[in-house]
Amino acid sequence: MTDTAIEATSLSKHYGRRRRALHDCSFRLPVGRVCAVVGPNGAGKSTLLTLAAGLERPTSGTLTVLGTGPAAARARVAYVAQDKPLHPRLTIADTLRFGAELNPGSWDMATAERVVDAGGLDPTARIRTLSGGQRTRVALALALGKRAELLLLDEPMADLDPLARHQLMGTLMAEAAAHGTTVVMSSHIIGELADACDYLLLVSEGSIRLGGGIDDLVGAHRLVTGRGPAERLHPHTVVESRATGRGLTAMIRPEGPVADDWDVEEPSLEELLLSHLRSPDAPPLLTPGTTATTSAVTA
Ligand code: ADP
Repeated sequence: MTDTAIEATSLSKHYGRRRRALHDCSFRLPVGRVCAVVGPNGAGKSTLLTLAAGLERPTSGTLTVLGTGPAAARARVAYVAQDKPLHPRLTIADTLRFGAELNPGSWDMATAERVVDAGGLDPTARIRTLSGGQRTRVALALALGKRAELLLLDEPMADLDPLARHQLMGTLMAEAAAHGTTVVMSSHIIGELADACDYLLLVSEGSIRLGGGIDDLVGAHRLVTGRGPAERLHPHTVVESRATGRGLTAMIRPEGPVADDWDVEEPSLEELLLSHLRSPDAPPLLTPGTTATTSAVTA
């Protein structure tokens, strides 16, 4: 048994000479967490998930999944790709039976059927007649029926209306909590997953910019407003600062007490993420327990 779901050490994936989908990423995700992988389009989120799913191999660096190499862990991992490939002519019931055949010994039909049922879907309906949200639900039913220890979901909520998103997320969270499943899901919409997740990896231009428990990450930052100049913020780590009508507003990581004449607030998660994305040179932060500890094996 390991208490680490995913661990990356100096992980890089390059396509050709120039395109660095991921570059020198190191982080650790403990088991049992629900982790949002957030970042703009092209940041490297899908690449990270496909490497963890064992579908691609790193260019360099190492990656462990559930204490072993990604390929060796595949039977214990469920991966739902962005395009959710399902056979259009099969019915939902056939699709679930297919899931059972592909996962002999570990398939949990009751869970899969419960997920389908929670969306009010008719098991005799064919996949091609379903809406995008309903297909996502069937893909999640397959993933959850596999009783995987780790779920990797690439943009699972894209194209869903807010109601469908809320319902699906509710089903997913309830099932994951009941079985202690680690969930990793990506989104390019900042804040979309914030309510459901307790852990976060912010990826931008192939690098991990923030990693850790969401409360810890937010708690490590302050939004301060006061009179400049910016040098007055020394010795704090300044993520971003800009002149505003009220003087100077800055996102900082305090290194000790902040001077009395600054207005100090805890930022929202969205403010925190946006300030990091606007400041690509700001120093990254991985909270304790999120830094890579071992030199991992690759498979
Ligand atoms: P995200 O999921 O955050 O939108 P991706 O991981 O899909 O980002 O892509 C990261 C970068 O790697 C992008 O510049 C993308 O064009 C590039 N990339 C991803 N997959 C391939 C591939 N198979 N061949 C070439 N470039 C790729």
